[in-house]
Amino acid sequence: MNLSTIKKTVGIVVFSMVAVSGFAQDIIARQAPSDKRLKDIRNVKLNNTVGISADLNNPAANIYTDWTDNLRSCTGAVPANYKIDLRGFCMPTPSRKINSNFGPRWGRQHEGLDVKVYIGDTIRAAFDGKVRICKYNGGGYGYYIVIRHPNGLETLYGHLSKQIVKKDQVVRAGEPIGLGGNTGKSSGSHLHFETRVLGQPIDPALLFDFEHQDVVSDYFVLQNGISKGSNAQSASASTSNAQGNTRTARR
Ligand SMILES: [Zn+2]
Repeated sequence: MNLSTIKKTVGIVVFSMVAVSGFAQDIIARQAPSDKRLKDIRNVKLNNTVGISADLNNPAANIYTDWTDNLRSCTGAVPANYKIDLRGFCMPTPSRKINSNFGPRWGRQHEGLDVKVYIGDTIRAAFDGKVRICKYNGGGYGYYIVIRHPNGLETLYGHLSKQIVKKDQVVRAGEPIGLGGNTGKSSGSHLHFETRVLGQPIDPALLFDFEHQDVVSDYFVLQNGISKGSNAQSASASTSNAQGNTRTARR
């Protein structure tokens, strides 16, 4: 047997192995699609059951010491250089249009981002977490939801036409939590979206890039930390600290 014969033999063997292998896979795929789907469903169920850990039932217990239904009255302490993990996020809406930014507006502080949505648009949880507040505020947020997340952030979704989760419900990133609307103090349907740590608002644009439907970086670092007790003095001290927030550069 000369060299060219060996090459040809090897070539045919390899070809026939691939062919049989592909054919066998095809048979398996045809025979068991429903089994595969069931397995997937079982896996999702298993993951959901196993995944609801103490961390989701008591999210970010390392920095929060309370669980009330008052937006700003959080107690606890965030250490300096606290790293907030933004991986595992889901954009609350596919809308890329920002109607109004975070910051001073009409003589007061606008503590969130206004993202254009239409009435009935699906609004989704930005991260895994647990619903802390599910309320109505006619003079402000309208129907709104606040979720506390294991990464230490809280996210707020305002002016909803409908809330489809309940207080104390554990939710997954991307899970529908409400429908876009125009309730409360709002002119034109939009999502008012806030991000807070220990009740302190942080500009959501430092974390979420709606235009590109992505997070700004994988991590956000609260440089000076926040500590907040139940008295007003420590709360105002933490406000000035919160202004020193920085973010890490994108990898
Ligand atoms: Zn707003």
